[in-house]
Amino acid sequence: MTRLKNITVLGTGVLGSQIAFQTAFRGFEVVAWDIDEAALNAAELRFRALVARYVHDGVAGGTAEEAMNRIHYSADLTEAVKDADLVIEAVPEALQIKLDTYTKLSEVAPAKTIFATNSSTLLPSKLMDATGRPDRFLALHFANEIWKFNIAEVMGTPKTDPAVYDTVVEFAGDIGMVPIEIKKEKAGYVLNSLLVPLLNAAADLLVDGIADPETVDKTWRIATGSPSGPFQIYDVIGLMTPYHIALANPNPKSQAFAKLLKEQYIDQGKLGVATGEGFYSYTKR
Ligand code: NAD
Repeated sequence: MTRLKNITVLGTGVLGSQIAFQTAFRGFEVVAWDIDEAALNAAELRFRALVARYVHDGVAGGTAEEAMNRIHYSADLTEAVKDADLVIEAVPEALQIKLDTYTKLSEVAPAKTIFATNSSTLLPSKLMDATGRPDRFLALHFANEIWKFNIAEVMGTPKTDPAVYDTVVEFAGDIGMVPIEIKKEKAGYVLNSLLVPLLNAAADLLVDGIADPETVDKTWRIATGSPSGPFQIYDVIGLMTPYHIALANPNPKSQAFAKLLKEQYIDQGKLGVATGEGFYSYTKR
């Protein structure tokens, strides 16, 4: 075990609930903080659903039911972080919400507490001043469905204390993640630096009428030995996220991809694996 004992997770949505649950599953005491009782009630339902997923997926390294007993709920930030060795922030991906959260957090957290952001797109250096402790702040970035896709990308800023960085790398390993040590700040970390160009190239091949999704995926799988092609990956991500990203990009090819996603898939309720159909059809879990 690392020196870290008490972990607080801020935000119990899609990723925050998974981070809190996985951390409790691996034996840590966890405080799950969210804005109000309604959000915490929703969190409890998410945790219950995760118990079922962990049992279904046969996740090793802990007991899903016992994990529930190590999760404590709070809508009071001061109370939630009073003993925290590490706070993992997973509040919405909006700069102002993150800045406000860190400003409040910096006022109430003990001096010992390390802060880590799970932000996918905001560089930690954009947030570090608001933390009031840039030396004890860094990014710890998980992938959705963290019990299966168990990497944790660890990325500091130029101001992060190397000892804090090492502690967080060790913690990531202790909660069953494979730590990915990133040496310099980089938008997209390692994973999205590789994945986004692949997904964009696949979208271009489709929009330009070069090849259909099955052909693109087959090419990628056979020629690289990868288990999934880019359109299978789109289905796992869910088609709403790529739709919003494509729509926000004025490039004509992005606009064409957004239109295709909307008209051929989203309007028909085909949102990917989660709805049983996207580019491919799936048997429901
Ligand atoms: P989400 O919208 O599902 O959850 C956000 C949670 O934050 C909610 O429970 C909400 O109640 C809470 N919250 C706390 N403070 C809030 C405030 N001031 N206003 C509104 N809500 C507030 O978001 P998510 O998908 O879990 O993403 C959270 C973070 O994790 C983001 O930084 C995102 O980039 C990152 N992330 C997400 C994914 C993903 O696949 N969803 C993957 C990796 C990283």
